[in-house]
Amino acid sequence: MSVSQKYTIGIPRALLYYKHSVLWKNFFKELDCDIVLSPKTTKKLLDDGIANSIDESCLSAKIFMGHVNYLRGKADYILVPRIVSYGKNESTCTKFHALYDIVKNTFDDINLLDYNLDVENGSREFSGFYKMGLNFTKNPMKIYNAYKKAKKSQKLENKKMEAYQEELLEQNNKLKILVVSHPYNIYDEFIGQPIVKYLKQLDTCPIYADVLDEGTAKQKSKQISSGLYWSYNKELVGAIEHYKDKIDGIIFLVAFPCGPDSLVNELCQRKIKDIPIITIVLDELQGEAGLHTRLESFIDIINMKKQDNEELVRQERCKYE
Ligand code: SF4
Repeated sequence: MSVSQKYTIGIPRALLYYKHSVLWKNFFKELDCDIVLSPKTTKKLLDDGIANSIDESCLSAKIFMGHVNYLRGKADYILVPRIVSYGKNESTCTKFHALYDIVKNTFDDINLLDYNLDVENGSREFSGFYKMGLNFTKNPMKIYNAYKKAKKSQKLENKKMEAYQEELLEQNNKLKILVVSHPYNIYDEFIGQPIVKYLKQLDTCPIYADVLDEGTAKQKSKQISSGLYWSYNKELVGAIEHYKDKIDGIIFLVAFPCGPDSLVNELCQRKIKDIPIITIVLDELQGEAGLHTRLESFIDIINMKKQDNEELVRQERCKYE
């Protein structure tokens, strides 16, 4: 193929798309590629994912397979990176280690585009992007600039989201509910967003744990546990520590069956004593009615606890008047 050919890159709207979407999209755009994004998750996409997965796979990975399936025949390449470690002594969940091979062995009619990120073993992000970029241009400076620009845009976007959330925490008088969930679960239109929408209908203000800056989150996670190994869980735990004095309740939102979340969330529940907590497990058979009842009861409990606390403060005040 000629180097001046315009390529189309398929990006599955699932898993790490919700963490790196700005970086990915801007990088490929800077290299003059077109992007085709799979649509928001639907029941049909999930069913296709289930049909292309083993039963033991987690719900989030099944959804990912549905998105890859949708992109078949619609792009020159489909992006499926191998993201293993962002730093020393930490790792992502094994699903991310295996994702490229799972997709490759499931679909034999697609060209995969991948990059390795495994800092613990010496594979840095830029070298992965550089190798990917060589598929689209032979100009090293163009690849370098595309990466730098895309990286800067992702950082700006993250900062914007964090600032917006800080504003919500300061100015909003509603009950604040910290949703502790991987971004690919909570931002997914089919499994996570219905919960956020219902929390808003219940007149509460959902706060996203994944929005906090990575460095701050990892640092703060040490106050709950210094030995956490899974990067994404480390960030979520750090967010609990960071937001704990500004929130009224915590929802752990877990995709079935997630090993890292079940261990780490259990640890958090043992350590956090004074904030109401609920765990919601998302699975393929999720029904809305039961979910709504649980959320309503949870918010009622928080409201009752808040009223009791206010009454105690009032009684204390009366003693000195
Ligand atoms: S961390 Fe849990 S939900 Fe995420 S990919 Fe791994 S098993 Fe699935």
